[in-house]
Amino acid sequence: MQVKKDPAEISIRYLKGVGPQKSLLFERLGIENISDLFYYLPRRYEDRSKIVPISEIEPGNTHTVVGEVQKTSFFRAKTGTRIFEAAIADGNRRVFAVWYNQPYMRGVFSKGDKVMLYGKVELTKRLQISHPVFEIIDEDKKEESLEMGRIVPVYSLTEDITQRYLRNVVNQAIHLYSSQVKDPLPTSLRARRKLVDFKFALENIHFPHSFENLERAYKRLVFEEFFILQVVMALKRKSFKADGIKHNTSENLLKDFEDLFHFDFTEGQKKCIKDIEKDMIEEKPMYRLLQGDVGSGKTVIAMYALLLAVSSGYQAAVMAPTEILARQHYVTISKTFMPLGLNVRLLISGIEKEDREKIKKELAQGEVDIVIGTHSLFQEDINYDRLGFVVIDEQHKFGVSQRDTLRKKGKMPDTLVVTATPIPRSLALTIYGDMDISLLKEKPVERGEITTYWVGDDRRELVYKFLRDEVTKGRQAFLVYPRISRTDNSDLLSIEEMYKHLKKDVFPDLRLGALHGKMKTDDKKNTMEDFRNKKYDILLATTVVEVGIDVPNATVMVVEHAERYGLAQLHQLRGRIGRSKHASYCILISEPTTDSSSERLAAMTQTTDGFEIAERDLDIRGPGEFFGTRQSGLPEIRLGNIVKDFDIMEEARKEAFDLVKEDPDLKDEHHAGIKENIKERFRGKIEI
Ligand code: ADP
Ligand code: MG
Repeated sequence: MQVKKDPAEISIRYLKGVGPQKSLLFERLGIENISDLFYYLPRRYEDRSKIVPISEIEPGNTHTVVGEVQKTSFFRAKTGTRIFEAAIADGNRRVFAVWYNQPYMRGVFSKGDKVMLYGKVELTKRLQISHPVFEIIDEDKKEESLEMGRIVPVYSLTEDITQRYLRNVVNQAIHLYSSQVKDPLPTSLRARRKLVDFKFALENIHFPHSFENLERAYKRLVFEEFFILQVVMALKRKSFKADGIKHNTSENLLKDFEDLFHFDFTEGQKKCIKDIEKDMIEEKPMYRLLQGDVGSGKTVIAMYALLLAVSSGYQAAVMAPTEILARQHYVTISKTFMPLGLNVRLLISGIEKEDREKIKKELAQGEVDIVIGTHSLFQEDINYDRLGFVVIDEQHKFGVSQRDTLRKKGKMPDTLVVTATPIPRSLALTIYGDMDISLLKEKPVERGEITTYWVGDDRRELVYKFLRDEVTKGRQAFLVYPRISRTDNSDLLSIEEMYKHLKKDVFPDLRLGALHGKMKTDDKKNTMEDFRNKKYDILLATTVVEVGIDVPNATVMVVEHAERYGLAQLHQLRGRIGRSKHASYCILISEPTTDSSSERLAAMTQTTDGFEIAERDLDIRGPGEFFGTRQSGLPEIRLGNIVKDFDIMEEARKEAFDLVKEDPDLKDEHHAGIKENIKERFRGKIEI
């Protein structure tokens, strides 16, 4: 019996025409095996299927024509160019095919040959096509042409790999190996969703017989990709149904908590708190995402959940993406909870070894109620007595696997992931498809407007003057400067040099602080605190100020070389201002060099709404590049476009969740293909 081999395990070297040298070229395209080749989809298609009578072709248009070679000639023009031309006729009309400096064409065409040409028609003194795609029609040949008289795929290429060559190789691969792929989609599902089978899809995505077939093929392949992803999400969710922790609430808990603040909670905050409380008092582990723009009041919500966990007798952990942010959370949380007698600790690498050992011991013995830290919280040597709740303030700095590590420290602790980066729904289903989502849309208090300007380098003096004016009014300003190292081969100053320059030449009379990632933790902390305490007027900083820092008196955010940052990052930076009733100003200094950087800067000046920014970002960068996906631990989406194909994603999600509900362990023999597919695509990335 012949064993069917997985195309992912068959080297492309088995194909005719692919030798050692070519296979190196293929590697540049990311193609090593047959499966890679299957999924190397055309960039676009050329419709060469409509054969037009020569009498109907129009100059300026691209046409396919069929005719007979009437005569050929080869001559040298006055300029020295060697020209070969062939007159092709159907009936009594003709068109000339012309080649410049390709003398070997002489041997290709002969009078009387029947040929097909494809190319752009020009009108000189006559109709002609320069360097057409052509094929000599061999009436006896049975094989279909890959080049002519059909819809033809156009691939992205690399040097020394031509369209013609690649088409041939792909075609071989499909003919030899496509039937070895087991279709992972069960027939019943395909029937229900009207999806074509795998082999048909593969053939038609590369060599479509019609545009309808192409569409069917695309839908089917994208559906499969999304479906497998969503089955994984559904399986992950299912695994959370395992025993979790049941927290207890009491009637007055929320009211007592609210009394700790000098403000009332907004309706949005109350709703989120209710969602979370409901999850936490259930046995099933919570796995929830709390999403809201900077300043929307998420911290308060997370704090209530902390209180709920601790008052139920459990320990809770808060994981922040940076030490600065961890410290800030520590200040806020301990200030709120110390009076209640809770033991709140900060565990970051910057603290003394002795303290660290002490906290570790207290954690293991259950004396610490709430611990706040960075990823250090899930290092191996950290043990908890009874971890019941985890908050992950994530800002896209952690991946799925890191999230999971911390959760595994407890017995399925309830988990709340907090993110200030609004994520379009389409993407949320992909990155956070295994979670429940709470959205916090409105802001709790009237804030001053933020106006955003984008200016060129030539306006720098004006910007500095503006900074000075705001400082005179008693405000403070951030000045964000890229982190440059000496190896960075640019003529930009390093941040230290910039600091010296500003101090000496621009703001000698103002108080200037500097903050960057290479500083010692204590220095960073002191600088931040000094800035908050108004000891500096202007803080020159790298993007370390991007996350979470709260200095309400700061009303100006100047970003130098703003083209270097993504939209999400710019939006985060802008979130550092507009935190008081004063009007705020974000000034982006930039001479963008690409269209997409211009689009980003324009978007920043047009809206301050986080969700809108996120949608725009997704639009500009495309899902593959959109923040998060890379770090999320999920495989890249290689076929579908999660924005454009969102409806397919929703269908696939519904089917996937239904399937896992019915067959939670994928035991049904019809689901074996799904299981295999998951194993292959998620190898080493996700445990199920
Ligand atoms: P986020 O974590 O979403 O960025 P925070 O929770 O830090 O937002 O809240 C931003 C500021 O608004 C904080 O100073 C906080 O005390 C305050 N705040 C939160 N909720 C309310 C509310 N309901 N009314 C008034 N101020 C609030
Ligand atoms: Mg916050």
